[in-house]
Amino acid sequence: MNTIYYKYSDYLKNQYGEKVYKLPINLPVTCPNRDGILGNNGCSFCADIATGFESLDNQLTVKEQLSKNMDYMGKRYKANKFIAYFQNYTNTYLPLSDFKKYIKEALVENIVEISISTRPDSINEDYLKFLYEIKKTSNVNISIELGLQSINHKTLKKINRGHTLAEYIDAVLMIKKYDFEICTHLILNLPFDDEDDIIEAAKILSSLKITGVKLHSLYIPKNSMMANEFLNNELNLISLDDYKKRVIRFLRYLSKDIVIHRLLGRAPKEDTLFCNWNTSWWKIKDDIEFTMQEKNYKQGDLCNYLNGKALKNING
Ligand code: SF4
Repeated sequence: MNTIYYKYSDYLKNQYGEKVYKLPINLPVTCPNRDGILGNNGCSFCADIATGFESLDNQLTVKEQLSKNMDYMGKRYKANKFIAYFQNYTNTYLPLSDFKKYIKEALVENIVEISISTRPDSINEDYLKFLYEIKKTSNVNISIELGLQSINHKTLKKINRGHTLAEYIDAVLMIKKYDFEICTHLILNLPFDDEDDIIEAAKILSSLKITGVKLHSLYIPKNSMMANEFLNNELNLISLDDYKKRVIRFLRYLSKDIVIHRLLGRAPKEDTLFCNWNTSWWKIKDDIEFTMQEKNYKQGDLCNYLNGKALKNING
């Protein structure tokens, strides 16, 4: 077990007793921030393929996508158990009957978990009740990934998210009633956020006791709204050194029980105008881990504000 922070790979081994690999599934769905309900252009950082640079064609059935990916990833990463990861766009933004059909298709041999990525304003109890039945009857775990990106409601407006922090909190409380795992996506270097926002994000996620967090460094896809702002020099992007400091600060304030799925985003160079300061993601990750090790920092070592402790640790 990594003692600096709670790595997702350690969590998976604890949970399933062996290596488990996540297989992306690409459904023919959209997002209310793209189909005109909330907006047509999406979040300002979002490419029109949403997040799935590694996804297969959405014309393939769920079973076909799983089978192809299992074959390829299973051999490549020597994994025998898998998570069916409904990754692209907003996977609960479709009729309930279609949602049920797609989820049932994913219940194939060696799938131990179904992970559903969605927006906080696009999930409701009908979908959760169905998933609860699936968990009870088929013995697969259910996890929900919620895009939040920033806890600053003014930033959420600036990046055109179409929801606020309140909808996120509401979704977390609703999902918790079903005891599903919750992973939250955050971008730690949005141009409008400062270090206080990052610390507050760690505090909010810790107080909500979510299961995991996926950290992203902002990348700017060529076909996103943010691409224009970037080309017009309208974005004030922090340096790589400052990004590393933010990640470390975030981890130190975050509860040690929250699983860290990743420390930064990744995207193909040819599709982006800006990504990871032209530095490989693993080098940045190694640097962050090295600094934490060297300075004896640990995830949660500044998490001294829960359960009535905040006042006593006012200088913490
Ligand atoms: S990031 Fe997600 S919520 Fe935003 S436009 Fe893209 S698919 Fe929709």
